[in-house]
Amino acid sequence: MGVHFYLNAEVTDFEKTGNKITSVVTHTQPIPADEVIIANGSWMGELSKLLGIRILLQPGKGYSMVYDPLSRNLQYPSILVDDRVATAPIGRWLRIGGTMEMSGHSDYILPKRVQSIYNAFKKYYPAMDLPQPDTSKAWFGYRPVTPDGLPYIGRHSQYANLTYAGGHAMMGVSCATGTGILLNEIIQHQPTSINIDAFNPGRF
Ligand SMILES: Cc1cc2nc3c(=O)[nH]c(=O)nc-3n(C[C@H](O)[C@H](O)[C@H](O)COP(=O)(O)OP(=O)(O)OC[C@H]3O[C@@H](n4cnc5c(N)ncnc54)[C@H](O)[C@@H]3O)c2cc1C
Repeated sequence: MGVHFYLNAEVTDFEKTGNKITSVVTHTQPIPADEVIIANGSWMGELSKLLGIRILLQPGKGYSMVYDPLSRNLQYPSILVDDRVATAPIGRWLRIGGTMEMSGHSDYILPKRVQSIYNAFKKYYPAMDLPQPDTSKAWFGYRPVTPDGLPYIGRHSQYANLTYAGGHAMMGVSCATGTGILLNEIIQHQPTSINIDAFNPGRF
């Protein structure tokens, strides 16, 4: 369908003429653009500074551990609401994850955070024989967290061809397809299928 992916290309700058962005500059080349969508998750604030735009957003770091294979697994996924931990079993594979660490972007894995996820799991499933987690093998990711908990979806008033899509915090995977539909409508200058005023990227 004519889509071109520039894999492993870091956006380092933008070229502008008046209130239009004319190209997205990557570390290898500039890419001409008639419409630009900023959708780089928890790094959105830093990239926006290059355009003179202040976007309030912080990375909310979460951890997860995978156990595979388990001889005895959970039958259902669950959310352990009081301890903010989620479990996802698939066959003999189990992922447990959680926590919301507000410490910026950092590769450092906090052992006590990993342990607290394991401890919460053991509290709810005491009969499950799950080994202590290997902290060095824990996965971590950054949820893009906005001050009011709502995402940034829509055009930014500062440029004629700039749209934002991100800041979905804990719901980014679930909301991805819905956000994609809205982006398609925005870029094609169609009315959006839901009212997106509350998601205005310039609201702060
Ligand atoms: C432990 C954990 C559990 C979660 N569980 C769920 C869940 O069950 N359901 C759910 O819906 N969501 C869940 N989430 C949240 C979900 O992962 C996020 O909301 C989602 O990943 C946000 O998607 P995104 O595309 O906006 O940002 P990201 O997934 O962060 O993607 C942004 C991308 O932009 C790239 N990038 C950044 N800067 C640049 C640049 N300058 N140039 C080029 N590329 C750049 C990054 O490398 C990254 O690949 C969970 C998150 C965590 C941490």
